[in-house]
Amino acid sequence: MNIDRALIADVLADVEVGSEVTIGGWIRTVRASKGGFSFITLNDGSCMDCIQVVADKELGNYDDEISHLTAGCSLIVCGEVVESPGKGQRVELHGREVRVIGLADAEKYPIQPKRHTFEFLRTQAHLRARTNTFGAVARVRSAMAGLIHEYFQSRGFLYVHTPVITASDCEGAGELFRVSTLDLDALPRDDESNIDYAEDFFSRPTYLTVSGQLEAETYSCALGNVYTFGPTFRAENSNTPRHLAEFWMIEPEMAFCDLQGDADLAEDFLKNIFAGILNKCPADMEFFNKRIDNTVIETLTHIAESPFERITYTKAIELLEAADCKWQFPVSWGIDLQTEHERYLTEETFKKPVIITDYPSSIKPFYMRLSDDGKTVAAMDVLVPKIGEIIGGAQREERLDVLTERMEAQSMNVDDYWWYCDLRRYGTVPHAGFGLGFERTIQFATGMANIRDVIPYPRTPRSAEF
Ligand code: ATP
Ligand code: MN
Repeated sequence: MNIDRALIADVLADVEVGSEVTIGGWIRTVRASKGGFSFITLNDGSCMDCIQVVADKELGNYDDEISHLTAGCSLIVCGEVVESPGKGQRVELHGREVRVIGLADAEKYPIQPKRHTFEFLRTQAHLRARTNTFGAVARVRSAMAGLIHEYFQSRGFLYVHTPVITASDCEGAGELFRVSTLDLDALPRDDESNIDYAEDFFSRPTYLTVSGQLEAETYSCALGNVYTFGPTFRAENSNTPRHLAEFWMIEPEMAFCDLQGDADLAEDFLKNIFAGILNKCPADMEFFNKRIDNTVIETLTHIAESPFERITYTKAIELLEAADCKWQFPVSWGIDLQTEHERYLTEETFKKPVIITDYPSSIKPFYMRLSDDGKTVAAMDVLVPKIGEIIGGAQREERLDVLTERMEAQSMNVDDYWWYCDLRRYGTVPHAGFGLGFERTIQFATGMANIRDVIPYPRTPRSAEF
């Protein structure tokens, strides 16, 4: 069955008065008037707005069914589009046939027509898409994914699917989820009673990927400009409003490109997708601006129009040291910038996105290109107000000797990365790329404070219910 139905978005926007349409949706509110009418607001997810359906008692199933309807019930309504006497809507629907498809027990249905807290709605993640906020988040998320693909596809970037299961740890540090089919209750042991991974599914330890970058680099060093857009996993035990254990990342990688080119792409890309979302989802963005954060539209417009600030890490440290601030994490050259520092720079100092470049090599992974000063790498982070880091990127180390030296210095097993090193053995080229957290992008675009509310089913420490 695929019922030939109109979308409420289309009916509200431009179906002519007098037309007959069929729609399907879920009741948001229902009110029976004394005169024998029911006013039903119906939503089908095609837009923020509900359509008002007027059902009168002449309908055959009025007494038995329609008069008992409650929030959450699903209906198929066939009716005539009539001018709406009420404010705010062009048209409403005069029901000729109101078919009740699924009832919803009013005593138990969790999504009542009132304001629920986001905390509560997280416990109802399977139903929260039926609320205004989560419907809008879902539409913006989908539109944003489309904009991102469009951005790269229209510029000749190749979409590469990198593996989800990997044997390499891109960051050279923990935070990995293991993938294994070994029986945890009876682990095979070798002679020295270490776990014998030869017995495991892949005959080696494997993990969920933290980034598709290393594999994307291999395709970039053959095909030019590429990008990935896929799920990534980090077992970081950080319960913050900006970290998930499972999140989506966009990672472009460009051959014959240096750090400046990388920063240029990051800036152009962010401007493009933020301008794009204002364009593509005006009603949802209005909603976020009105109900969630009354600065989002202004901020996105501002970002799309003004150049980002670019400073070096060294300069950033100077600014932070000179700032009249009591830092929770003290500032000195060599520290990793914390969110409080990042937010200060982008919110207080510059009041716009800031690209910080040339970080100390000691706080950055092995694959970032070592600069001539010997102590910084060609790294860049893009910081935006309220979120802090939204993009992390770098020019990659293309010199085999420098690369292996850095891997050894970080006690990595160079042999494990033989294929990554091969890129530097055979036709090495300067190349650069970055990673953008998709959920942080949605957070920034919508003003949603908690990252758990911009992905359908958030995975965080001690939470994977749905
Ligand atoms: P942070 O310091 O905020 O934890 P990171 O330095 O670990 O970020 P990268 O490893 O550079 O981040 O990852 C690239 C991008 O992925 C980040 O800029 C951010 O947008 C996003 N990101 C990183 N970790 C997470 C996470 N746990 N949940 C959601 N997004 C994340
Ligand atoms: Mn992190």
